[in-house]
Amino acid sequence: MGTPDTDGAAKLAASLFDRLFEATRDDPGVTRIAYGEGEQTAFALVAEAAATSRVERTFDAAGNQFLTLPGLDRSKRIVIGSHLDSVPHGGNFDGAAGVIMGIAAQKALADAGIQPAFDLTVACLRAEESCWFPHSYIGSKTALGVLENGIADQVRRSDTGQTLAEHIDALGFDADGVRRGDAWLDPATIAAYIEPHIEQAPALIDADLPLAAVSGIRGSFRYREMVCHGEYSHSGAMPRHLRHDAAVASARLVVAMQALWERLEAEGEDLTVTFGQLGTDPANHSFSKVAGEVRLCLDVRSQSKETLGRVENELKAFVDTIGAETGTRFDLGPRSGSEPAMMAPHLVAMVNEACRAKNLPVHTMASGAGHDAATFANTGVPSVMIFIRNANGSHNPDEAMALEDFNAALAALTQMLMARAAAWTLK
Ligand SMILES: [Zn+2]
Repeated sequence: MGTPDTDGAAKLAASLFDRLFEATRDDPGVTRIAYGEGEQTAFALVAEAAATSRVERTFDAAGNQFLTLPGLDRSKRIVIGSHLDSVPHGGNFDGAAGVIMGIAAQKALADAGIQPAFDLTVACLRAEESCWFPHSYIGSKTALGVLENGIADQVRRSDTGQTLAEHIDALGFDADGVRRGDAWLDPATIAAYIEPHIEQAPALIDADLPLAAVSGIRGSFRYREMVCHGEYSHSGAMPRHLRHDAAVASARLVVAMQALWERLEAEGEDLTVTFGQLGTDPANHSFSKVAGEVRLCLDVRSQSKETLGRVENELKAFVDTIGAETGTRFDLGPRSGSEPAMMAPHLVAMVNEACRAKNLPVHTMASGAGHDAATFANTGVPSVMIFIRNANGSHNPDEAMALEDFNAALAALTQMLMARAAAWTLK
């Protein structure tokens, strides 16, 4: 059985991107409000496009939409999915590229008269962007019935002032079902979750590669309200050895953490370390004062739980040592964070194999940003992501994914979907 031609599917995808852009345009860029206008429009547009491939359309209690092309064995399904909401004035591709690629892959198979090994379901997920509701991955969590207690009744302060439950009911879905954890998807019957998504950093541009398989989604630990306490004193009069300089102590911490990152990176560990905010107190600092206080926030990410633990231990040792040496005291403040999500190695291998078969470069990388795939992976569903090269980052109107790169990923995905049942169940 040869691989189906994806030209017709690529044409459908190109026209869908255009129509989606026009229908949700909000200059500059697009706005697809979760449980609002743009998201609804996007759901209707992709469902209409999928109808040409004889798919079955279903909604779950939360209003996530599932478009299923029947497979040879209907007891299991392969899910291709992503979200259809966007940030305000975002780009056309973040989220939508994954759903549109799923629709296009269904068309490629249907046009060639090929039935996939299992049902092939495109999941159009809601509310992934945390700018609408103050919670991540609402669509994938409700789709799998794992939304945490109380989230349905959290108020959306970003615009409407209504709860998630009110939004769900307003669109004619079933908030009580969501509260009960009703789910249309059953993790036990999902052979694989595949999420194509634009890369949100320039790593693939830098490496001159059209796409990559994703090995894992980084988890994190964060200290958003760290304070270094020193002592204010006169810049001209205070001798060096008597100072308690919070600026010097903080700078030493930044340098120590950067050196640790360099060392672990050389050992092959996956890691990012970022001090996103760092400053003296504007109410008290001055040109001629030794800094008595510095506020910092730290965001550390890795796809390895062990690496995160190791870095956090080192951080605690650094603040003790630097505090003692500089006569200052670090208060780390409240800690937050998320678990890393590992993609399934056999699915990563299948993506790479498909790339090889289509004469595409083979590359594997970590995802620095969070995605719905993390929910699927952490619910025990074998998952993988396919990153597509994209210029100018995401969450802005200047996202720029070339259709050639999308089509390369579509060819690889379609190739992958030709795999027999046994390949999907290998773990
Ligand atoms: Zn996204």
